[in-house]
Amino acid sequence: MNEQQPDIAGLRQGLDEVDSGIVRLIAERRGLIEAIAKMKEHSPAAIQDPDRERRVLDGVVAEATALGVSASLVRTIFRELISDSVAQQARHLNGDGGGRARVAFQGAAHAYSDAAARKYLAGRGLEGDLTGYRTFREAADALLAGDADLAVLPIENTTAGSINEVYALLRSRELFIVGEETWKVDHCLAAAREVPLSALTRILSHPQGLEQCSQFLQSLPNATPTTYFDTAGAMQAVAESGDPGTAAIASPEAAAAYGLVVLRHGIADAEDNYTRFVVLSAKPAAVDVRIPCKTSLILVTGHEEGDLLRCLEVLSGSGHSMTKLESRPRPGRPWEYMFFVDFEGNAADPRTATALDELRAAALFVKILGSYPAKALRAPARPGDVPGQEHAAAPRPESGAQDPAEMLEAVAAAPRPAAGRSRQYKLVDRAARQADTVIRAGDVLVGGDGFVVMAGPCSVESEEQIGATARFVRDQGAHVLRGGVFKPRTSPYAFQGLGWEGLDLLVAAGRETGLPVVTEVMAVDQVPRMAKAADILQVGARNMQNFDLLRELGKVDRPVLLKRGLSSTIEEWLAAAEYVVAQGNQQVILCERGIRTFESATRNTLDLSAVAVIRERSHLPVIVDPSHGTGQRRYVAPMAWAARAAGAHGLLIEVHPDPDQALSDADQSLSFDQFGTLMRRLAHVPGSPPAG
Ligand code: PEP
Ligand code: MN
Repeated sequence: MNEQQPDIAGLRQGLDEVDSGIVRLIAERRGLIEAIAKMKEHSPAAIQDPDRERRVLDGVVAEATALGVSASLVRTIFRELISDSVAQQARHLNGDGGGRARVAFQGAAHAYSDAAARKYLAGRGLEGDLTGYRTFREAADALLAGDADLAVLPIENTTAGSINEVYALLRSRELFIVGEETWKVDHCLAAAREVPLSALTRILSHPQGLEQCSQFLQSLPNATPTTYFDTAGAMQAVAESGDPGTAAIASPEAAAAYGLVVLRHGIADAEDNYTRFVVLSAKPAAVDVRIPCKTSLILVTGHEEGDLLRCLEVLSGSGHSMTKLESRPRPGRPWEYMFFVDFEGNAADPRTATALDELRAAALFVKILGSYPAKALRAPARPGDVPGQEHAAAPRPESGAQDPAEMLEAVAAAPRPAAGRSRQYKLVDRAARQADTVIRAGDVLVGGDGFVVMAGPCSVESEEQIGATARFVRDQGAHVLRGGVFKPRTSPYAFQGLGWEGLDLLVAAGRETGLPVVTEVMAVDQVPRMAKAADILQVGARNMQNFDLLRELGKVDRPVLLKRGLSSTIEEWLAAAEYVVAQGNQQVILCERGIRTFESATRNTLDLSAVAVIRERSHLPVIVDPSHGTGQRRYVAPMAWAARAAGAHGLLIEVHPDPDQALSDADQSLSFDQFGTLMRRLAHVPGSPPAG
């Protein structure tokens, strides 16, 4: 025994020397990377070269195999080293490092999220002040309240799958993904003291921890899995209770931090158990195009066969490889889905920007969650690759692998003018999309070559009134039923509409006649309920610049009919439409309804030239409301015909069974007869192609 002591000490000393040699070599390797990063600073080349990475890995694996060292061990170590070098170079290009960030995560100290957040910060050369919150939502709220600069939340696990609650937060909050991190999860079972597994009656952990160890848990005869708000917190609870029958599942580091004894290591069902985290911020971040990036987005497609495929083809057809496609049910819409898509690309890259414009044109709703430096890129070597052989078909990272001449060519070739006409909007600019946007409401298409008539009373007044009007306008060839239920009236003493009851009557009349319905939404808190019931949500002229309302409408995926403000310029009107589209909802129909001028012969001055201007400046459909535009029923039909001839995509017309008795806008409402005449003559007015 005694004789062996010096030997072991000597061997351990040797080991220590080797270890510090390894660290010195890593430092030396980083020095070389730093020099390379400096050289690359002024080069347009991407910082990641998959072919070279594959050669490096093949080289070290071959060397390891010759020395009898496990190939998988060496591959794991070198993947980490390579990913560290990419991060180091990215930091250089982005000018990161040396700062401090307040970071929110879910869980107690030493939770996996805490560890992943620290790894992310270290990779960016940042110091951090980390705060754990009880729930994912509280961590996200801390970010939105300005109490944190970043939030690090888990999004998927390689064993248990996607973390739905985090996806739901990305959908409902204004959060942006600015980074990602991966963490190898190593679950252990720990208790206050050494006890046989059969003595355990309760196992605490986060639901994800329990799910990832479900096979192991089933092998415990007497223990009941019990969910806890997080893994490390479960360890803390076990330590505080001191109950020998209770154990927790978390990392060995958390067990050590709370002074627990590890009863069993490596208890996860799958050996390679990784969690991917997203790093969130309240603002999107722009990333240098030479840094390999991923872009994440939320997508809602139409519900026709082939709609999803068309959207995915936009990405694949432009050379963007998709790394994830997750489908989630849409709350309140049985059997309809929204999709979360990750692909390799950077929205700052013109080629990706063009693909995103095309995607917006093909989808109902597109919310870009962010472009951020990729951590978990596909492994450079794929099964079937022959080491050392160049794989011609391998797609290069989209973000920066092109040479600059190719990039400029792509911009020049893209079907858009070099600069938009206005800096106030870009997504709704014709420059972003050559083809007209066509919007579907029920079976009706608005935009493109079609012409739609939306007709009905100014206000829904009774079941009989809306029912009779619906049947009549349908029989005359109208496509959409209108009817106000929340009315923006000049005087507070005027009829304010029937409210939600009126909405039920309108929806019932629409259903009976097979017409989709359009009605005005006046307030942010009305949006969710309106979006469930109505087919098109109208924003009235008085609310055109109610930016909170516009933003809220941008979060739903119902078409929006945006009326022009009483005194708004066309540019202001398009900028208002941009508010909706920028939030994700791509379906905006513009409606010219007359503006305030010095003219007093008509209620408003119907600006038909706006139709020609809008068709030139924007790809969005534009319709005309000659009822509010003139305010007098005898002028409605001539202006309706003129609107069609000017190139409008449709009309919005007020019709009432007994116009003189209408509770609102009596003077401008057409009788059934007048509406019938208007429709018959309208058939003889040719539409006009867009100006220019
Ligand atoms: C309406 O359509 O009934 C309405 C109130 O229109 P506007 O917002 O154009 O006045
Ligand atoms: Mn009206």
